[in-house]
Amino acid sequence: MRMTVIGTGYVGTVHAACMADIGHQVLGIDIDAERIASLSAGRAPIHEDGLDELLARTVASGRLRFSTSLAEGAAFAGTHFMCVGTPQRPDSKAADLRYVDSVVDGLAPHLRPGTLIVGKSTVPVGTAARLAERLADMTPGTEVAWNPEFLREGSAVEDTMRPERLVVGVTSQHAEAVLRAIYAPMIAAGVPFFCTDPATAELVKVAANSFLATKISFINAMAEVCDAAGADASVLARAIGADSRIGPRFLAPGLGFGGSCFPKDIRAFAARAEEIGAGEAVAFLHEVDRINTRQRQRTVERARRLLGGSFTGRRIAVLGAAFKPGSDDVRDSPALVVAAALHQQGAEVRVHDPEAVDNARAVHPELTYALDVDKACEDADLVLHLTDWPEYQDIDPAALATLVRSPVLLDARNRLDPRSWAAAGWAVHAPGRPRLS
Ligand code: NAD
Repeated sequence: MRMTVIGTGYVGTVHAACMADIGHQVLGIDIDAERIASLSAGRAPIHEDGLDELLARTVASGRLRFSTSLAEGAAFAGTHFMCVGTPQRPDSKAADLRYVDSVVDGLAPHLRPGTLIVGKSTVPVGTAARLAERLADMTPGTEVAWNPEFLREGSAVEDTMRPERLVVGVTSQHAEAVLRAIYAPMIAAGVPFFCTDPATAELVKVAANSFLATKISFINAMAEVCDAAGADASVLARAIGADSRIGPRFLAPGLGFGGSCFPKDIRAFAARAEEIGAGEAVAFLHEVDRINTRQRQRTVERARRLLGGSFTGRRIAVLGAAFKPGSDDVRDSPALVVAAALHQQGAEVRVHDPEAVDNARAVHPELTYALDVDKACEDADLVLHLTDWPEYQDIDPAALATLVRSPVLLDARNRLDPRSWAAAGWAVHAPGRPRLS
């Protein structure tokens, strides 16, 4: 089938390449000409496992092309996936829908009757209905459906090829049939396919992210209580997670969530709920957000205490800059927020990250970056583990102890093995855990 994918960022690039790989003819469209040139040459603009090979293969096959022209897109296909960003508005907590609106306005003059626009961006409930109304005047006969995206950065290709579920919100049987045909290989492989109305589909996405964010903030709140009580939040997490009604995932006490989705999605959801008279129902999301942000401040304060109350003249090694392992994305990265705060408060900070250094440097050029862990840790007074890349679990704590000035580890992600680090002479600190040394 023929389709366009409009907006070739994290979601759009992966969606376009995966759709082409399962046999569709895909035109990826973006306003960023440099990005389109790089994609046309088969080069991914982002780091994702397997994406480079997938792009090279699908571009070479001729099934995936790229363009900057919405007019070309409208002429090429009757189905358009919209994957543009929906960031937080600069002046409020609501979602900024200007990119979504500009795609619809840009497409409208070129559309033929019977066109299907399928939103994948995360949007406030009611957006599909509003866009359909907007289009009704300009191009009658165009349907707006919603098909929220659930991929996780770090495993985006795998999540798109083998999603845990597909959710589509449609207003016609035709749209359902088109989407079923597009996702036929996934549906044939047994992926659950939920077909509903657009409002429910839009809400499924923000409800899922709100639930996950709440789970993370819940365990971080428990870690704060454990710190006060001298109890162990990691044992608590494992013990409550053993209850199958709770489950162990997303229950690791740590630095909290970040990235371009959870923080802005829960804020936008709360703002939209307020608008439609349901603000009280999701007021708890404000607390989820506050608990989350507090973990960053608590990490900075704990680092200060470990350094005797002042950062001045102290050297801190920061392990991790990406908002999560497996990604080079630093948007609202808790690791970078903490690193920048330490620097701003007088510490000499050296940051290491396996993939995200270029992106981090673009946002925080004032920080010093190291190409390897050893260089980052040389003469450090404190090592801070802020993004749980698997390679950090392979660090030899005994060898690293010989490089630092003082073997003190603050494992803000609670993912390094405290016993082996303590056995190698380190004082090991982690949120919600009694000190080990
Ligand atoms: P992104 O910022 O990486 O990419 C957005 C792209 O859209 C950019 O390349 C930008 O140049 C392009 N764009 C903006 N205006 C355009 C226009 N008028 N025409 C064509 N292209 C335009 O964003 P992303 O991370 O891919 O997220 C996209 C949406 O998907 C957001 O709503 C996000 O919340 C949602 N989402 C993201 C993820 C994720 O993990 N990143 C997961 C699920 C859902």
